[in-house]
Amino acid sequence: MIIILKHNATDSDIDTVSNKLKEHGYTPNVTRGIEDVIIAAIGTPAIQEKELVAPQLQAMEFVERVLFVSKPYKMVSRESHPTDSVFDIGTCPDAQKVTVGGKKLAIMAGPCSVENLENTQFIARETQKSGATVLRGGAYKPRTSPYDFQGLGLEGLQILAQARKETGMPVITEVMTPGLVEQVCEYADVLQIGARNMQNYDLLREVGKMRTPVLLKRGLSSTIEEWLKAAEYLLAGGNLNVMFCERGIRTFEPSTRFTLDLSAIPAIKRASHLPIIIDPSQGTGRRDMVASMSKAAIAAGADGLIIEVHPHPEDALSDGQQTLDTNQFAQLMSDLKPIAEAVGRSI
Ligand code: PEP
Ligand code: MN
Repeated sequence: MIIILKHNATDSDIDTVSNKLKEHGYTPNVTRGIEDVIIAAIGTPAIQEKELVAPQLQAMEFVERVLFVSKPYKMVSRESHPTDSVFDIGTCPDAQKVTVGGKKLAIMAGPCSVENLENTQFIARETQKSGATVLRGGAYKPRTSPYDFQGLGLEGLQILAQARKETGMPVITEVMTPGLVEQVCEYADVLQIGARNMQNYDLLREVGKMRTPVLLKRGLSSTIEEWLKAAEYLLAGGNLNVMFCERGIRTFEPSTRFTLDLSAIPAIKRASHLPIIIDPSQGTGRRDMVASMSKAAIAAGADGLIIEVHPHPEDALSDGQQTLDTNQFAQLMSDLKPIAEAVGRSI
């Protein structure tokens, strides 16, 4: 950490900063220029000390700026784990193991919301035939309007478990509330933390206590750094099997529902060792854009995709406008194969 003092800083101001740094385990190294005073904080105290002391220094009226040299997240950072994290999902009984972060892409497909058993079984079978390895489906749904379909809840989880029993596909589903984490863990192979909950710190702490892998969606208006720090909550709690999921952010552009930020792929790959999955369905809100964004995501180095599929998207209870039918999904899977191979991956 480097602290730059304002031009009029006095010797006593320098002492105040130096003493504060010493209290928190740093050795201050003062450099006086003709106009500026720069204090380098040397040492590596616990990350909590840094997080506490930096804003306190910034709040001193004679401090111009505090600059960080090391990252505000630790376990998530690539420095702490230079090689890519690769882990298996599929811990529930009946689930096949699926590796995330390796050569083979993780393709997750299914309805936005679980609607009934028959439809879910059909989607699972059809998408599996085309190359999907994980079944997605919302049982607890975060809906913008309280009058929209809110999901089947526990019944939805039981339907997903039934579809897993028949196909062996591990199941990913959203958990919205800390109080339901244990219940969802009984049925889910991967806990989805939705975009609207990326900064629900009570939920992150609760999910951090579990050992079920997590897919952490990017908040609608969250920076990459906020997203990395949200993941740090999960790893710091002991849950190490976390994947990021870019699902579009809010911009001024109204022609898509969100703006899918594909530059998040190299940004996350540089900053972290954890895998990143792309959601082109929420990311665009438009069925006609799902295929091109999926291809671009794989070409850019994503570790997988999560795609909404329904036999009759026009009848879906949520997000039909961005949902592929099973034939469109099958076509996309076959179009993706050569792209995956071109970047050293497989489907
Ligand atoms: C979803 O996957 O259906 C969903 C609600 O996702 P998000 O949290 O990204 O909006
Ligand atoms: Mn959806």
